[in-house]
Amino acid sequence: MTELPTSGREWHLVARPNGWPEPGDVALREVPVNEPGEGRILVRNLYFSVDPYMRGRMNDVKSYTPPFQLDKPMDGAAVGEVIASRAEGFAVGDHVLHGLGWREYAEFPAQHAAKIDGSKAPLSSYIGVLGMTGLTAYAGLFDVASFKEGDAVFVSGAAGAVGSQVGQMARIKGASRVIGSAGSDEKVKLLVEEYGFDAAFNYKNGPVRDQLKEAAPDGIDVYFDNVGGEHLEAAISSLNVHGRATICGMIAQYNATEPTPAPRNLALVIGKRLRLQGMLVGDHAALQPQFVEDVAGWLASGELKYQETVVEGIENGFDAFLGVLRGENTGKMLVGLAGK
Ligand code: NAP
Repeated sequence: MTELPTSGREWHLVARPNGWPEPGDVALREVPVNEPGEGRILVRNLYFSVDPYMRGRMNDVKSYTPPFQLDKPMDGAAVGEVIASRAEGFAVGDHVLHGLGWREYAEFPAQHAAKIDGSKAPLSSYIGVLGMTGLTAYAGLFDVASFKEGDAVFVSGAAGAVGSQVGQMARIKGASRVIGSAGSDEKVKLLVEEYGFDAAFNYKNGPVRDQLKEAAPDGIDVYFDNVGGEHLEAAISSLNVHGRATICGMIAQYNATEPTPAPRNLALVIGKRLRLQGMLVGDHAALQPQFVEDVAGWLASGELKYQETVVEGIENGFDAFLGVLRGENTGKMLVGLAGK
């Protein structure tokens, strides 16, 4: 039997950020690693996810997920390999998806792990396109926004993990027009040339309202919001009568230190009878089987594509997290630990 590690590194939150998180708000600490107790497994993490929502968990406020605790490891989605097991049904060498990211090793009750099959899909994809990210896109578009064939769809954050899936799913299911916005000309090119968007624009190149009007001269029926702020206001202007917006994220304001302005044109929702609806992916677990079946099929046929940005090394985990907030990722941002 291979010798088990006696210690490993994990990222702790040590101070609550005010505005943009800073290196002094976190610490990479070496901690003892325990052998698994009865019913538990010890996992060596191979990838962990760094997500925009984690910024909210750094604040000490009541929300839909509990805040990270100070001087404790942060957590989030991860995949890893079982290296010791005292749980029925879990063997050394199994791969699992679980919730104890931000660390090299995790020892926990096996019922909190889901076995995954690396021969069916890359292990990292169980966090991204086949995981929470993909389900967010699927549920947000088809369930929350009640997408139907012929709808014109606009998605912000369109080259990111969720956004890139939303736009392609809308195209696959017969959208009349798919429009995306992203923060660089390279990302805009990717959306049109690789992902089959009908139009895309760089929101840093001019007012979103003007660029959206140009890209969607006949208006939009669905807006999938990952960004908030100026994007949401522009979408409200472009939405057609009975349009729907899924409010999935508002990354433009996650680091704001002052209250952010509401859309100044909100009164338009009355005359246009718009529906703006917030969503949480956790409410849509019932869609999981249908989601996996559809997405696996689209991936196999090549209709659906995805990218990942993998930052190697646990010591780069915090920079990777900042990178997501800054737009340094294309597709899902992950921290890879396999090579270290
Ligand atoms: P992501 O889109 O892969 O990464 C975040 C992206 O946001 C960055 O790559 C960056 O791309 C963009 N961005 C950053 N600051 C921005 C700004 N000020 N204005 C416009 N764009 C900005 O992340 P994700 O994991 O797929 O999440 C996307 C959104 O969905 C986030 O808002 C997240 O909180 C939300 N979300 C919600 C749920 C839910 O259940 N409600 C679940 C998952 C994710 P650019 O280069 O294009 O700026």
